[in-house]
Amino acid sequence: MLEIIKKQDPELYESMYGEYTRQEDKLEMIASENYVSNAVLEAQGSVLTNKYAEGLPYGRSKKTGDIMYKKYGRYYGGCEWVDKVERLAMERACELFGAEHANTQAHSGSQANMGVYFSVLKPGDTILGMSLSHGGHLTHGAPVNFSGMLYNVIPYGVDEETGHIDYDALRELALEHKPKLIVCGASAYSRTIDFERIGSIAREAGALCMADIAHIAGLVAAKKHPLPFPHMDFVTTTTHKTLRGPRAGLIMCKKEFAKGIDKTIFPGIQGGPLMHVIAAKAICFKEAMSKEYSDYIDLVMINAKTLAKELTDLGFNIVSGGTDNHLFLVDLNNKDISGKKAETILNQAGITLNKNTVPKETRSPFVTSGVRIGTPALSSRGMGPAEMKIIAGYINQIISAPDDEELRVKIKAKVKQLCAKFPLWYK
Ligand SMILES: *Cc1c(COP(=O)(O)O)cnc(C)c1O
Repeated sequence: MLEIIKKQDPELYESMYGEYTRQEDKLEMIASENYVSNAVLEAQGSVLTNKYAEGLPYGRSKKTGDIMYKKYGRYYGGCEWVDKVERLAMERACELFGAEHANTQAHSGSQANMGVYFSVLKPGDTILGMSLSHGGHLTHGAPVNFSGMLYNVIPYGVDEETGHIDYDALRELALEHKPKLIVCGASAYSRTIDFERIGSIAREAGALCMADIAHIAGLVAAKKHPLPFPHMDFVTTTTHKTLRGPRAGLIMCKKEFAKGIDKTIFPGIQGGPLMHVIAAKAICFKEAMSKEYSDYIDLVMINAKTLAKELTDLGFNIVSGGTDNHLFLVDLNNKDISGKKAETILNQAGITLNKNTVPKETRSPFVTSGVRIGTPALSSRGMGPAEMKIIAGYINQIISAPDDEELRVKIKAKVKQLCAKFPLWYK
C-alpha cells in the first residue's frame, strides 16, 4: 500500500499510513462513513484524473430539451472515452433510482443541493427545510450555510415527544408560508421518511419538492426504503455514505428540470467534472444493483436494530425508541455525560462516532447531549449481530466509568483484536 508515496514523500506517507491503520484497528461507527471496494478505489486513482471534460457527453434538442446522445456537448477535445464513462454513470443512476434524468457531476452533496437551489430559486425565496438540531443538514437552511444566508428559511422538525417528523406541523407551515421548495431528507434521523406524504403536501401548497437522500441512498437503491420518485421533483444524494461509492454528489430530477440542473452545475457553479470520480460513481451504481449489495444493506439494518436494542436493554435512551435505517441517536441525558465527552472517551477506546444534538437539546452544538451511531462501515467489514452485542457492552462499560482510563486501554486492545478478525481488503 502507498509504495510510491512511501519512497517519494515519507513525511506525507507517515500520516496517510497512520490513517489507514486507524481505519483498520478502530470500530468506525460514524453513520456517514463507509469502506469502498477496491474497484471504487482504483477508479479514483486512475488516469481519468488527467482529463478536462467541461460540458456534458451529449447535446440537447433545441425544440424539446430532450437528450440527443449523438450530438456532442463538450468544450474540450479528446472526450470520446470519458463520454462513455459519464453516460454509463448517468444511465446507471437513472436505473438505480428510477429517475428521468441524472447529472453525475456534482463534486459533493452540498454542491448537489446548491445545484438544485440555484436552478429554481432566487435569493429571498422561501424554502421549508428540516432544522439542523432536529436532524436536517446544514444545506437545508442553517443560518451559517449559504442556504440560510440566501433564502427565507422556515424550519420544520420532529415531534419532541415521539422523535418522528411532525408531518401535520410540516403541512401547516407549508400552507401558511407557501414556500417555493420543500426540502426533505436528513443527516441524523432514524425513521422512514414518508416521501409520498411530503410530495402531496408540496403539491397542495404549490411548492416544488426535493429529497436529499445522502444518508439513506444505499437503502433506497436496495429498495429497503420507499423510493422518492415519482413523489419528488428533485432527488440529491452523496455517493459515499450508505451507497459506498466515492466522496461525491449526484442530482436526479424530472425531465422538465433537466436542462436547468445541467446548466446550473456547469457553467453555473462548477468547472470541469472529476472524471475519475464519475468513473467510481458508475462502479458503485453497478455494485448497488447486485444481490450482494442488497444483502449488505439487510445486514446494515439488522445491525442497527440489534445495537439499538442492546443499548436499550443496558439502560440507554434511543431517540424515537429505535431505528428503521442504518443509524440512531442516543440521548445521554440519563447518563450524566455530554455527547462531547462520550465521543472523546469512546474514541480513546477505539470506538469512533460523533456527538449529536437530541430533541429538547439544552447544550450547545459543540457539546450536545447525545451521540449518533451508524452501522454501514462495520457491516462492510462483515461484522454482524454477534459483534454488535459485544460492542454495545463496550460502549456501556466506557460510558458508565468515564474516569477509568485503564478500562479504556483494556477495551482498546480488545477492539483491535475484534477488528483483526474482520480485516480490510486494501492492498
Ligand atoms: C452528508 C450530507 C450532505 C453533504 O454532503 P457533503 O458531500 O459532505 O457536502 C448533504 N445532505 C445530507 C442530508 C447529508 O447527510
